[in-house]
Amino acid sequence: MESNPADVRNRVRGTIFPSLCCLCRDTVRSPNDCLCNLCISNLPWIKNPCPHCGISFQNNQLCPQCQKYPPPFRRCVAAFEYQHGSIDQLIMAIKTNPSCPEIKQLSALFAKVIEQTYQSSAMPEIIIPVPLHWRTMLKRGFNQTEAIAIALAKHFNSIKVFNNLCLRQSYSSPQHLKTKTQRIKDMHHAFAIRPARHRYSKKTSLSLPVLENKTVAIVDDVVTTGATSSALAAVLIDAGVKYVDIWTLARTSWHI
Ligand SMILES: [Zn+2]
Ligand SMILES: [Zn+2]
Repeated sequence: MESNPADVRNRVRGTIFPSLCCLCRDTVRSPNDCLCNLCISNLPWIKNPCPHCGISFQNNQLCPQCQKYPPPFRRCVAAFEYQHGSIDQLIMAIKTNPSCPEIKQLSALFAKVIEQTYQSSAMPEIIIPVPLHWRTMLKRGFNQTEAIAIALAKHFNSIKVFNNLCLRQSYSSPQHLKTKTQRIKDMHHAFAIRPARHRYSKKTSLSLPVLENKTVAIVDDVVTTGATSSALAAVLIDAGVKYVDIWTLARTSWHI
C-alpha cells in the first residue's frame, strides 16, 4: 500500500527531530502530541466524581454540598483536579497561546472523558464557551474557552459551537484571589443573552429559538466555586434552555 506523502514527510521529520513532551522532555508517541504516555497517566485525573458538581468524591455519590444546595446546572464534567504542578502548567500555556499544542492534546483527553460520561444519556446539542468581558478580551487578545470549545467540537460531529450568543456585561478583576461570597456578588447580572434586534422595530428579544428546549454545554478551563458557570447557566435556563451541563478541563477538588 502506498503511503501518503504528508505521512512520509511527518515520519521523516519525526525521526530527525523527535517531538518532546512539554513536561518531562521525553520523546512523545506522535509528532502532534505534546505529552508522553507517562505524563498523561500521571495527570491528576478526577476519579469517582460527584455526579452533579464533578468534584472528586466517593463512589459516584452526591457530595454534601450538592445534597444541600443543588447547583442550577444538570452536571459538571471535569477531567482533572486543578492543583499546582503539571495541570496548572498546561492550563497556563492555554491561557497564553490559543494555538499551543496543549489545547489539542488536553481537548482530546477530555473528549474521551466526555464520551464515557454520556454513554447512557444524550449529548448536549450546543456548546457555549464562557464569554470574556470586552476589556479582558482586549487585554488578552483571545478567549481561551473559545479555543477549547472549538478543539472539543472537532471530536463530536453533531455539536455546534456558538461564540456570540452570550455576553459578559460586567467587568471584574481576576477571581482567584476572591472569597466565594465576593465571587457570587461579582457574578450577579454578569452575563446576558445577546439581544436579537428585530429588523422592523426597536424591540429586542431575549429568547432565542436556537436555545429553546436544547441541552447546552458551557465550556470553561477551570471551575473553582462554580459561581461563574452557575451564573451563566441561570441566564441560559431563563432563555429557554432545558438542561445546562458544564464541561471544564479542570476543577478544584473542594468547595470553597
Ligand atoms: Zn512526559
Ligand atoms: Zn457535588
